[in-house]
Amino acid sequence: VIRGIRLEGKKDATLLVWTLKRFDPPAQVRIPIGNNLTSVNPGDKVKAGDLIAEPANAQSVAVHASISGTVTAVRSSSHPFFDSAEAVEIESDKQDLKCDGFGTERAGWDKLSSEELLSLFQSHGLVNLGAEMVPVHVKAAAQVSKLIINACEPEPYLTCEHALMMSHPVEILKGAEILRKAMGAEQVLIVTQDNKTEAAELLKSKIYFQKWKHFEVQIIPSVYPAGTDPMLRRQFGHEPIEIFNAATAYAVHEAVVFQKPLIERPVTVGGECFIEPKNVWARLGTEFETLVKYARGFLRQPGKVVAGGPMTGKAQGNLKASLVPGLPGLLALPEETVKEEETHSCIRSGRCVEVCPVEISPVMITLAAERGLFQMAAEYGADACIQCGNCTYICPTKRPMAEWLRMAQRPPAKAPRLARRVKKKILIGA
Ligand code: SF4
Repeated sequence: VIRGIRLEGKKDATLLVWTLKRFDPPAQVRIPIGNNLTSVNPGDKVKAGDLIAEPANAQSVAVHASISGTVTAVRSSSHPFFDSAEAVEIESDKQDLKCDGFGTERAGWDKLSSEELLSLFQSHGLVNLGAEMVPVHVKAAAQVSKLIINACEPEPYLTCEHALMMSHPVEILKGAEILRKAMGAEQVLIVTQDNKTEAAELLKSKIYFQKWKHFEVQIIPSVYPAGTDPMLRRQFGHEPIEIFNAATAYAVHEAVVFQKPLIERPVTVGGECFIEPKNVWARLGTEFETLVKYARGFLRQPGKVVAGGPMTGKAQGNLKASLVPGLPGLLALPEETVKEEETHSCIRSGRCVEVCPVEISPVMITLAAERGLFQMAAEYGADACIQCGNCTYICPTKRPMAEWLRMAQRPPAKAPRLARRVKKKILIGA
């Protein structure tokens, strides 16, 4: 039994069609390059797919231009998850030229060795298309018996992977098979949720026609946070496994078979405040303002714009940040659903304990962290928290649980001195 919450899906608005709309490339992109070593200078002409930054080390990946045009700057820019990050800015020449080989089938791709595949993952800029953006070649270097394709998309509003599964099931399966071969795994398990049964059926039918007996599709309940990577790890981790998103499997297929570096990803531009919410293909580095235009702008002023899902995404102060590979959605949520409510003291409702999927006591951890008792928070299991957001969502007095939990996991250098009286009060549950 998975502890969690059955959240309202709010997915219908972007699933009216199964296709991902493709727009003309944006007029400008700003592509974050992390610590990688830029290989272009302002004034250089680039084509989509050209290398713009070399991997800084064995654990990082190459970065590529996502449009054709002229490099106008290499500078610190707004980032959806951090305050800012070094980025390469490219202005489009409106021709959408592609690098050599882009889109043409690679000769002998099905005979590549595991080492060749890992090196190709790195040179084509492949990272797992989840929030952590771990390089595919790093994850795929693990020796595991089972590869899990996470096709769950558990957070409300997000549907871009669902649309991708419906429109490109074969590419996802072939990408998963390439990953399996690269890792030397025996089996592939595709896990999806009971709100995507048609996608599960479609994948099963394609597996049947491929005659791949080592593939299996499993449907789990759509109880949040079931379907997140940490929960899949808890559920299926009794044997060595590695987890990749369905969109990552698709990107692997495109890179290995069609020589396409990672320059775009599927994105849900969703939420009640958009005129026309939809799933789109968006070039990496596309500014959020442009993504908003893809949905024909705002129907009304959003109370909050969130990069990612509503449970784990990051609220954006403006629309200046740009698309990174780990971002599945940009959501514009109405004022009434996100308004800051007044917070009150804990009333010991116990609801946070009931919905915590990792079976720790959010109330005790947050009460301790709030008072600077980080040692005590650790003893209550703060490190096991997967930051799913359930306790914040369910708290009847709207305590800022997430904030305290984050602090409990990464205590500030100058923690307040322990106050014995407070400690005692918490211990007796007063
Ligand atoms: S304590 Fe962590 S894992 Fe448990 S419900 Fe809260 S955020 Fe989720």
